[in-house]
Amino acid sequence: MNDLSRLAIHTATTKPWDLETAVRKYADAGVSGISVWKEALEGRDPAAAGAAIRAAGLAPVSLVRGGFFPAPDPETRAVRIRDNERLLRAAAELGAPLLVLVCGAHPEVRIAEARDQVRSGIEAVLPLAEKEGVRLAIEPLHPMYAGDRSVINTMREALDLCEGIGSPSLAVAVDVYHVWWDPELEAQIGRAGRLGALAAFHVCDWKTPLEDMLEDRGLMGEGCIDIPRIRSWVERAGFRGFAEVEIFSRRFWAMDQDEYLGRILAAFREYV
Ligand code: ZN
Repeated sequence: MNDLSRLAIHTATTKPWDLETAVRKYADAGVSGISVWKEALEGRDPAAAGAAIRAAGLAPVSLVRGGFFPAPDPETRAVRIRDNERLLRAAAELGAPLLVLVCGAHPEVRIAEARDQVRSGIEAVLPLAEKEGVRLAIEPLHPMYAGDRSVINTMREALDLCEGIGSPSLAVAVDVYHVWWDPELEAQIGRAGRLGALAAFHVCDWKTPLEDMLEDRGLMGEGCIDIPRIRSWVERAGFRGFAEVEIFSRRFWAMDQDEYLGRILAAFREYV
């Protein structure tokens, strides 16, 4: 049984709650960390939000999510870079040490070119990340999203990018939903540890059948992912951070969120 000292929750998991409600409910339940989605920050001063999070006894783990670099035209790509710079400043004000990147994809940009655009986008924003003291975490996404959300789909690719660029401010986020199937996963997690590039660990489960690509994630224990095994690899690689519960699910968003939070805690204790 896990205690809750390493449990963090993404605000998108309990999307019906605004940031203030999520902070209060998580803290009351004994959750230790929170990853803040940029939508939850809308209309708020990031510094004040960060102060409220810390005052409640929660650690701000990351700001989610930047990236989305590829686009057919240079003007849009420049806008995306400015968006990421704004998010980096917001993460610094919030006191979050990490900005998670969904690198992006575009159906009108061929995949090889999109990968080049991801690399250029990351290189463009890295100087500010270094200056603000906020790390960028590339989160490889399941290949089913390669057409429209991310052309970085495996840990190997994410780490090749990290190694190629070679900045201590660039790392990876391991989300079990995206990488659980990868026969290289254990080896690549070990590699990430050796590179000092293991920045975040996200958990949920993979339901079968999947009713929606985006919004039908399972609660830990509901699906086929061997989460404790992947967690053991991540920890063996030296990771000492939070296990962050990140579940997008219309099914769970439709239920009473207090009851849902109780189920998240129980699932974390037993299946992570
Ligand atoms: Zn994730």
